[in-house]
Amino acid sequence: MTVSERGDRSESERGEPLVAIDGLRKEFGGLVAVDDATFSVERGSITGLIGPNGAGKSTLFDLVSGFHTPDAGRVELSGRDVTGFAPHEVAHEGLVRTFQTPRRLEGMTVRENMLIGPSGQTGESVLSLLTSPGTVEEEERANLRRAEEMLERFEIAHLARQPATDLSGGQLKLLELARAMMADPDVLLLDEPVAGVNPVLDAKLASYIRDLNDSGITFLIIEHDMEFIMGLADPIVVLDRGTVLVEGTPETVRGDDRVIEAYLGGGGG
Ligand code: ADP
Ligand code: MG
Repeated sequence: MTVSERGDRSESERGEPLVAIDGLRKEFGGLVAVDDATFSVERGSITGLIGPNGAGKSTLFDLVSGFHTPDAGRVELSGRDVTGFAPHEVAHEGLVRTFQTPRRLEGMTVRENMLIGPSGQTGESVLSLLTSPGTVEEEERANLRRAEEMLERFEIAHLARQPATDLSGGQLKLLELARAMMADPDVLLLDEPVAGVNPVLDAKLASYIRDLNDSGITFLIIEHDMEFIMGLADPIVVLDRGTVLVEGTPETVRGDDRVIEAYLGGGGG
């Protein structure tokens, strides 16, 4: 399937659940990392996902993006059941994620990094995500054009020829975002986009995310930096011990005793 075939993103659909997460569960040995997690991400929203360390946030991303198979529960994208889909299949359906710890790809330039598509979600070929079947040459050109466009958009075009291993933590986060955009996603899942990023780049990342959101991309963002996530996301979903504890506006969440308790308890052990 091509992007254009996937693509009805009419404004009229704004507000309906784009990602519906229902009763997701994941155990590792005896440890229940995600436990009957249920919530939705509305089309057009920037939804925040917070919770103490070990609450199961990253594992939830793994389940939604196909990097782990849930033991129970269901994931729907625009009403389509994608539970158990492989990462590249989920990307095909319009959902792309970034990782808490981005991989630095040895021996590749920034531009080459862009051309391999979103980490782990490329599948057979990122090209098939981007264009209708055509000659390889056409596809390569289209890909290259989009890579240049994205590098410029995130103001890292001047780094295109540098080894990706030379990038700072912040630049690497920008590269992750740019690379995720190669697949033309409907929804982006960002795992701690500003962890280890300096305050100037923080603000920049927030404004990039807002711009992308204005252009129609839905976000689900895990972030520990409260100021960042509370200023950017609405609603906020709080995960604690694998389960949704509270869901609401930043104001509601901030004032909720259960949330404060969960953080003080460090996940409640
Ligand atoms: P968060 O992102 O909210 O900090 P994680 O989803 O990374 O939490 O982890 C939730 C729990 O699951 C933790 O106790 C973590 O140690 C455990 N966990 C995560 N991934 C694995 C794995 N691949 N194998 C075993 N345990 C895991
Ligand atoms: Mg995590």
